[in-house]
Amino acid sequence: MSDTHLSEEQRMMRQSCREFVDDVVLPFIRGNWQREWDMNPDGRLPPDILEGAERVGIRALGVPEEFGGIELDRGSEVQTFAMISEEIARGDSGLADKLVQNWKVAVLLRNLAPRHLQEKWFARLVAEPSFLMAHCLTEPRGASDRWLPYNVPEAAMTTRAVKQGDHWVINGRKQFISNGYDAGLYVVYANTNPAVGMMQGTSSFLVPRDTPGLTVARCNETLGCRFMNNGELVFEDMRVPEDHLLVESDALGKAGVYFRPGKIIQAAKNLGVGVRAFEVTADYVQNYVQGGRILIKHQAVALRLADMATRIEAVRALLARAARAVDDNDADADTLCNMAKVYASEEIMKVAQHAVELHGGNGMMLDFGVEKLFRDAAIFLHMDATVDISKLKIVKSMFPHTAGKYAGAEA
Ligand SMILES: Cc1cc2nc3c(=O)[nH]c(=O)nc-3n(C[C@H](O)[C@H](O)[C@H](O)COP(=O)(O)OP(=O)(O)OC[C@H]3O[C@@H](n4cnc5c(N)ncnc54)[C@H](O)[C@@H]3O)c2cc1C
Repeated sequence: MSDTHLSEEQRMMRQSCREFVDDVVLPFIRGNWQREWDMNPDGRLPPDILEGAERVGIRALGVPEEFGGIELDRGSEVQTFAMISEEIARGDSGLADKLVQNWKVAVLLRNLAPRHLQEKWFARLVAEPSFLMAHCLTEPRGASDRWLPYNVPEAAMTTRAVKQGDHWVINGRKQFISNGYDAGLYVVYANTNPAVGMMQGTSSFLVPRDTPGLTVARCNETLGCRFMNNGELVFEDMRVPEDHLLVESDALGKAGVYFRPGKIIQAAKNLGVGVRAFEVTADYVQNYVQGGRILIKHQAVALRLADMATRIEAVRALLARAARAVDDNDADADTLCNMAKVYASEEIMKVAQHAVELHGGNGMMLDFGVEKLFRDAAIFLHMDATVDISKLKIVKSMFPHTAGKYAGAEA
């Protein structure tokens, strides 16, 4: 990858991430492939991996310098997030998921949380290498449709928050939450006005893990990205102090500070998985002999490699354009970051398919390790909106008066 556009700081960060991945993450993954399948979620990723991320200075990105974080140049912050997410996901996309969730929630907190809560939670994040944060929107009865124009009461969240004195009382549940199993702090979205559409009636709250009424109900056993512990949460008369309200009523609109960088980071992690699939495949086809010749000498094999490389570069180009648009706050940033996210998920899935096919039988063997990239790639089709919903969002942002209008009852 050409790095002429990178600043000196970005180049140094990329180099230290690459060394961390090559020297620590990849040897761990190669040497411990069974750890992914440990049914005790706490036992999967050893703490020294997150401590290693701390040493290279990438754990608390997004935290302002005044609270002990490492401040990135705001004019290229999202581009730097993308660069680092790609590097880490090249090593392991579950580890990348764990880390990026902290960056995304940190950006949300620095924009929306009261100062005394920023002081408190940024201090913990900076001090504890295993401290994680989570962002909880998805519920059993709705997720994707939240982002369509179905701004009607019947599509609103079923998790409810009601003000009682100086507390909010929250009841409901959230599912499929990244870091949901082991986070120390959650951002939770709940309906605070059932009479209106969700864009006007959803509020967000800061919920510490030890809040009475919060239960971490389970850790989901995911197909890929298994070193990130995805969890389910239940809230039963959970009482949250009133100062823990982040945004009242229009929390979904304000979540753009989370979702725009979030989509870029998703696409970048996805790219990292594709780059690793290409690396291992390029190595394999130049060493593995079949039919008396190394595989790459067979033209069908060589063509597939070209296809992998082309898809990766196309994803990289769109991602770079979208990340710049988010940093520059361009008018088409929303459209572009949805495009980058959904395009990466479909293209890198094909890259991963080529990778396992070119490895033949070895591509299907757990101990060989290539199938992991295929499983990890599949997760991206479903994370942060499905493929179809992402495409609907793109067309909605381009044609708000036609594609962007609810197809149900006429207003
Ligand atoms: C690994 C992983 C991590 C995740 N992390 C988080 C997280 O940190 N926080 C969080 O809040 N959520 C998280 N999610 C949830 C994720 O955002 C949702 O899974 C995703 O938005 C899809 O929602 P769903 O699973 O409810 O699918 P559904 O909405 O039930 O979709 C099922 C199918 O129906 C289609 N569909 C649904 N509604 C419509 C519609 N109105 N019009 C047309 N088609 C429709 C979808 O495209 C899909 O094909 C995570 C998911 C995964 C897999």
